[in-house]
Amino acid sequence: MTLNELKWSALRTVFFGYIFFSLLTLVGGFLTAPIMTYYFFGDWRFWRHWGPGTRLFPHGWRMVLSVLQPNGHAFMFSVPLFSAPASAPDRSRVRVRNDWGYGNSCGYCRRCCEIYKCPVLDKSTGLCRGYDSFFWRYFNCGRFPTSQPDINFYACPKWEMKPSTVVAESPAAAAASVGLAPERQAQIG
Ligand code: SF4
Repeated sequence: MTLNELKWSALRTVFFGYIFFSLLTLVGGFLTAPIMTYYFFGDWRFWRHWGPGTRLFPHGWRMVLSVLQPNGHAFMFSVPLFSAPASAPDRSRVRVRNDWGYGNSCGYCRRCCEIYKCPVLDKSTGLCRGYDSFFWRYFNCGRFPTSQPDINFYACPKWEMKPSTVVAESPAAAAASVGLAPERQAQIG
């Protein structure tokens, strides 16, 4: 294991601890608002993010309950603890589809944000308020997509795996790679 891998895992572990502290104490996240907004919005100035920042609390509990369900999604637990932060998907593995008409932009689509009603998405502009924040880089957003099951799960119309990386997977293996039971994946589409 490299020094960087140790650092990344330590940073993720501290983040997990902070999130559990915030959720369990009910007020911990509010009392430490600059830390919370730094993690999710890349900005210590919490007063600029009060509305969406406040909605992170019920959203966090919804995510926890979803993870705890037998068929729940693993969300940020699906990202390896020791993996490098990422601001973009790995272009050696994925590419933008030829029939996608918006280049590197996501165009009109907000599907991967809206499926779980992410409060960080600014609905008035359609932009992510947390772009390139700690959460974005260290967990699922920045590196999306990492696999074909990832693309399938969100029915992403933009990305596809490069042919050299595509391997045939059973539905069970595909669902497992995003931490989800096949029947739950089928429900969400
Ligand atoms: S589902 Fe794909 S195209 Fe849609 S917002 Fe997410 S990454 Fe962009």
